[in-house]
Amino acid sequence: MTTTQNTAPDPNLTDGMHIVVDALKKNGIDTMYGVVGIPVTDLARHAQEAGIRFIGFRHEQSAGYAASAAGFLTKKPGILLTVSAPGFLNGLTALANATTNGFPLIQISGSSDRAIIDLQQGDYEELDQMNIAKPFAKASYRINKPEDIATGLARAIRAAISGRPGGVYLDLTTALLGSVVDKDAADKTLFVPVDPSPASIPSPASVDRALKLIASAKQPLVILGKGAAYAQADDQIKDFIEKTGMPYVPMSMAKGLLPDNHPQSAASARGFVLENADVVILMGARLNWLLSHGKGKHWNPNVQFVQLDIDATEFDSNRPIAAPVAGDISSIIDAFNTGLAKTPIKATDAWVKAVNDAKIPNDEKMKVKLSNTDLPMDYFCALNAVKKITDKYQDLYVVNEGANTLDDCRNVIDMYKPRHRLDCGTWGVMGVGMGYAIGAAITSGQSVLAIEGDSAFGFDGMEIETICRFKLPITIVVFNNGGIYNDSHVDLSGHGDPSPTTLMADAHYDKMIEAFGGVPYFVETPEDLTKAIEAGITSKKPTLINVVINRTCGTESGHIGSLNPKVLTTK
Ligand code: ADP
Ligand code: MG
Repeated sequence: MTTTQNTAPDPNLTDGMHIVVDALKKNGIDTMYGVVGIPVTDLARHAQEAGIRFIGFRHEQSAGYAASAAGFLTKKPGILLTVSAPGFLNGLTALANATTNGFPLIQISGSSDRAIIDLQQGDYEELDQMNIAKPFAKASYRINKPEDIATGLARAIRAAISGRPGGVYLDLTTALLGSVVDKDAADKTLFVPVDPSPASIPSPASVDRALKLIASAKQPLVILGKGAAYAQADDQIKDFIEKTGMPYVPMSMAKGLLPDNHPQSAASARGFVLENADVVILMGARLNWLLSHGKGKHWNPNVQFVQLDIDATEFDSNRPIAAPVAGDISSIIDAFNTGLAKTPIKATDAWVKAVNDAKIPNDEKMKVKLSNTDLPMDYFCALNAVKKITDKYQDLYVVNEGANTLDDCRNVIDMYKPRHRLDCGTWGVMGVGMGYAIGAAITSGQSVLAIEGDSAFGFDGMEIETICRFKLPITIVVFNNGGIYNDSHVDLSGHGDPSPTTLMADAHYDKMIEAFGGVPYFVETPEDLTKAIEAGITSKKPTLINVVINRTCGTESGHIGSLNPKVLTTK
């Protein structure tokens, strides 16, 4: 292709921006999330003109979270569009979060003049973006020539969705976007990669070894992770678990893969099953901090692991894995279900009874906590009010973040459908709420309930303007206890400064959504909370409910206070 100067419109010519849009369209990309500015504003306009939805945000990080949620829910890469340098960096947290969580995301960013950047001559928004993105991304590419746009996008798509999914960075220079080339020649470069996420069939020997180990177990346990949810192998997984009768525990974003009220769910006996299981089958779940690395007092010291994962480098990362099975979950579970004919597996009545018995006292304790109706409400009282709605409307998407708001909600709110819960995930990151809610609403068209701590909501609260602008069916519940963790009220400054964890308990977060034409509620009772949520999700209007929560409830760092370094003095 010959590159010429951008002059008057000529039907025989096209430019870098149009080729990018054509390549995205050809690859079935129907939505982009981002914030426009130099040099990508026209790229978003061209995309809209070509029928790709452009969801414009107030901050790139939220746009990136929305695109990641779309990636997790659909198995197609979510697309984040950012401007050069600062916009690129604002998106980088979302890119890193996607890579850590295994969500397919492509951050496409405009960048400034290469020659000036490389000589550090001080360009507008000068930054070596491609190299900076590398440690945070599964892959990082730059496209320099218009004839390479289709190839660059194909590489980005493959990297994002094949193997363990993750975040990919794609750098588009200003010069590339503005280059003008012959349209026929450009059209000929477009292509769709064949089978960009190929099935990964497990070796028969690994399947055999795994099934034999499970069959030999006296007290087997399945742990379902978000990799299993992502795999969209819902029916096969349900079949395997029900045929074998094994108890299972879902990690938080795998909740609903089988309904939480399934009789084999051991979620309320989590401590008991981890301490007692002799063989644990990790199904798309990593032995990271969320499972205390498979070590220590929470685990049976003699436990043996079967691990099902698409990424073989994951095996033995924390504990030796007795039976690693490398492959995609769908292919592995198919092989398992077939293999059951030769190697039958059935959890014993004694083990099933022991697990069920262990659930009873915990379920009782939970009932007592949920029955507290003292005002101001505590977390359990408020969550009991929320649960009335989530049990009734089982298609609801639930987004959840905070410390106590996250920990307690995860335990109280049952999920009934796969991939309907999005939360802080592997990093325990705050500020994902509005982005995830928007991604879920755009992708599904269904009502989304975002259950937020007051601190968590503060990170991305401005995105309620985005929610109102796009008229999205999102109901936001802010559990306001006036602080990060709680309002500890101790003035250590000596001159009246709020404590480091204090936020405004008297704040009316509901007033914020009023400014943009959404529906506000300020509630102090569980009855009003239930009514407000039902009105929000059934009207499908953007709604924000400020829930007054007792300032003293909420423990420091929620359930993971032990991760704080131990200090010598406390007041
Ligand atoms: P959780 O936080 O729910 O425990 P993790 O994110 O720690 O889940 O683990 C998910 C695992 O699933 C990752 O190790 C990832 O490689 C794996 N994975 C992702 N997609 C698939 C798939 N389609 N098939 C098999 N494994 C997968
Ligand atoms: Mg709080």
